[in-house]
Amino acid sequence: MMEERIEEILSYLPEQTRLVAVSKYHPTEAIIEAYEAGQRIFGESRVQELVGKYEELSGAYLDLSWHFIGHLQTNKVKYIAPFIDMIHSVGSLKLLEVINKEAEKNKRQIPILLELHVAQEETKGGFTQEELMELIRLMHNEPERFAHIRLEGLMTMATNTDDQALIQQEFASVKVLFDEIKSSGLLNEPEHFTELSMGMTGDYQLAIQNGATLVRLGSAIFGERSYD
Ligand SMILES: *Cc1c(COP(=O)(O)O)cnc(C)c1O
Repeated sequence: MMEERIEEILSYLPEQTRLVAVSKYHPTEAIIEAYEAGQRIFGESRVQELVGKYEELSGAYLDLSWHFIGHLQTNKVKYIAPFIDMIHSVGSLKLLEVINKEAEKNKRQIPILLELHVAQEETKGGFTQEELMELIRLMHNEPERFAHIRLEGLMTMATNTDDQALIQQEFASVKVLFDEIKSSGLLNEPEHFTELSMGMTGDYQLAIQNGATLVRLGSAIFGERSYD
């Protein structure tokens, strides 16, 4: 039962950690079932799929919150800018600028997380530590250029491996950087820099031990996806 799976996960989460139910590739019926079990934040990684689900559900489920967690192409930002509650996976300056522009058109601020690349796979996105710090400085020096985005924290994906020590090391390094940025004096709104999005079905316990405030769980809630 999905309700029992969600309850079990929630009972494990500390107070400061919220659950993002990753519903990609699952039908809206599955989202409704999770909603009825009390879940409110849903994560999607493909724009077209997300927009379809949003259009189908938003009228009836007003407090359902959508987070974008996957690779986002700049030419598709406009489709989600009106309603997205958080974009986790911002891994380039170009993307950040487009999100800012589309948010402005929609007369809103969009909460975002900057993605840090720590995994060993080249295919995973995100900034290196140096690139990330450079961007934080840029945002500090030119705040008006980013007035329509709200920097709420960092996101990362660990290496896909059974090596727990490696995953532990990766999560711990992100937490160290998060704390450094938070106290750096470089943030324009340090009070909003509160989120650390890390941990998936295979590694979320380690992520929580390292200070995750958002865990992104798909298979643990909805079962296996039939693709990927
Ligand atoms: C698919 C996905 C998840 C969820 O993965 P599970 O292993 O099913 O929990 C989390 N984060 C990102 C970025 C994803 O693309």
